[in-house]
Amino acid sequence: MNVVCLDLEGVLVPEIWIAFADATGIPELKRTTRDEPDYDKLMEYRLDILRQHGLGLAQIQEVIAGIDPMPGAREFLDQLRPLAQVIIISDTFSQFARPLMEKLGWPTIFCNELIVGEDGMIESYRMRCPQTKLTTVRALHDAGLDTIASGDSYNDVGMILDSKAGFFFRTTDALRAEYPDVPAYTEYFDLLEAIKAAL
Ligand SMILES: [Mg+2]
Repeated sequence: MNVVCLDLEGVLVPEIWIAFADATGIPELKRTTRDEPDYDKLMEYRLDILRQHGLGLAQIQEVIAGIDPMPGAREFLDQLRPLAQVIIISDTFSQFARPLMEKLGWPTIFCNELIVGEDGMIESYRMRCPQTKLTTVRALHDAGLDTIASGDSYNDVGMILDSKAGFFFRTTDALRAEYPDVPAYTEYFDLLEAIKAAL
């Protein structure tokens, strides 16, 4: 049985923190893993900025509710889900993903959790396991499932290479150059056709 494992940000929805930075006018929040490779450091930096601006979970969810999936993403998922099981595997947080999952028709998502205080401020976060994406596809393989994976970033490479088929989607030139054997697509139609061929 096949499970299609999809990255969320950059594949189905815009980068949430960048969209959030634009929506709130807080440019410091545009810092990403490309600028700061240490994820813990980056998250502490982000949480500090949210505290300084008095932004709690409710205000953040309100902004995220205004972010739309990428054009064609919902239709892509709607065409894919009758063909195979689909899981979105993301390093975002369930509380951020929720409004976007509603707009995508409630697909299954495995992601991380924010720890929110009684005052509604984000205190911390919990990653569900190390190397979340690779660990998850390996666990699916242990459960007797085959995976087909697609994503756009460095943290997707592990699951892409470990799956029976893997594809980049709207990735960077640097990743294409580094992994020339991984097919790279920019249109949902082409990604869907590649997944169909791999099923
Ligand atoms: Mg991504």
